[in-house]
Amino acid sequence: MADLEQFRKDTRAWLAANCPPEMRKAMTREEDTFWGGRNATFSSEPQKVWFERMRDKGWTVPNWPKEYGGGGLDGEETKILRQEMAAISARLPLVSFGISMLGPALLKYGTDAQKREHLPKIAAGQIRWCQGYSEPNAGSDLASLQTRAEADGDDFIINGQKIWTSYANFADWIFCLVRTDSSAKKHDGISFILFDMASPGVSTKPILLISGKSPFCETFFDNVRVPQSHVLGQVNRGWDVAKYLLQHERAMISGMGERGVGRPLGQVAADSIGVDDHGHLDDPGLRAQIATFEIDEAALACAAERAVDLAKAGQAHPAFSSAMKYYGTELNKRRYEILMSAGGSDALEWESERSNDGARARAWLRTKANSIEGGTSEVMLGIVAKRILDLPGA
Ligand SMILES: Cc1cc2nc3c(=O)[nH]c(=O)nc-3n(C[C@H](O)[C@H](O)[C@H](O)COP(=O)(O)OP(=O)(O)OC[C@H]3O[C@@H](n4cnc5c(N)ncnc54)[C@H](O)[C@@H]3O)c2cc1C
Repeated sequence: MADLEQFRKDTRAWLAANCPPEMRKAMTREEDTFWGGRNATFSSEPQKVWFERMRDKGWTVPNWPKEYGGGGLDGEETKILRQEMAAISARLPLVSFGISMLGPALLKYGTDAQKREHLPKIAAGQIRWCQGYSEPNAGSDLASLQTRAEADGDDFIINGQKIWTSYANFADWIFCLVRTDSSAKKHDGISFILFDMASPGVSTKPILLISGKSPFCETFFDNVRVPQSHVLGQVNRGWDVAKYLLQHERAMISGMGERGVGRPLGQVAADSIGVDDHGHLDDPGLRAQIATFEIDEAALACAAERAVDLAKAGQAHPAFSSAMKYYGTELNKRRYEILMSAGGSDALEWESERSNDGARARAWLRTKANSIEGGTSEVMLGIVAKRILDLPGA
């Protein structure tokens, strides 16, 4: 315990000295997130400084082993670092699918050579990854995927199409599910393979949304040649890797429900609605909604903490991330409904001269996707019913 207290003191002091004030403000624009990658640019000098300092300390991935560019922290130390960062509202220095999704799968299933090749580049933000799971006829029923990989000497030749590939047009590499045995049962003939998006035969087509943004793409593979050594885990056993990665993806997405938007909801609401003579939010109905929300948010934070402790003790239920994903994303949607109610018609502003042009309305609409990406809420409830509650007929 004394060691942990010392670690907390040192961490607090290091963050105070090294996190630029600009990196302690809520993120309101897309450019506030640094994703890394071959063509990455920083949106400001403080963003660059903060990223480089955290990278050099191994704290872009604090709990990864040092030999792969991580900080080598154990579970308790990682928790303390997160708490101390939250206490000063420090931004994450690097956000990437490599960190939150592929990395854990590489650590569990990767060969020594694969770990050495990919993990340090993820930790240092050098390579940006995208996720090639969904296909036009394989979303919730992911194991129906049809993208084919046929053996040709030491390589596979890949043909097919993915869809909803987030940021495929900016990504350097893809982790991808492909069918390597069409005669096997659908879950058994799948492999998990890694390849460079610059490989001949890979093309992307951004999907333009009604919001005017294009966060994802259709991704096409036309005779893409990939060495068989790029398979993660065993050939035809990719479903195991895919499921393991989804646990991490769902845990990451569930965190949206407890992340907060910088200032407490009550204060944001008071800005537009005002306070009564007692200093309370001058709208009892909204006040009650905010209070209920904050209790539920605190409960989610406790559940998340418990999940981390159970994982550390090797007692975590593998499907628990589905329960967290369901609750966290529904909570995040509620948060933005409250923010929109609090803001009234001003919150619907879409375009203006101000720098945060429509940020709240766009963020509100974006939350609608939280309960779809990484598996829909209906599918999460199905998993909870079947695998955790063991309900009859589930
Ligand atoms: C913002 C965003 C980012 C994404 N990024 C990526 C990415 O980077 N890479 C990637 O591969 N994919 C990505 N996806 C795709 C995502 O994984 C799928 O949208 C999701 O799995 C659902 O699949 P679907 O869209 O085909 O819907 P469908 O599976 O067609 O579902 C349609 C409706 O039917 C319901 N439904 C389906 N099956 C069941 C069932 N068994 N029980 C109850 N209800 C059911 C669903 O809940 C949903 O309401 C992204 C999606 C979003 C929204």
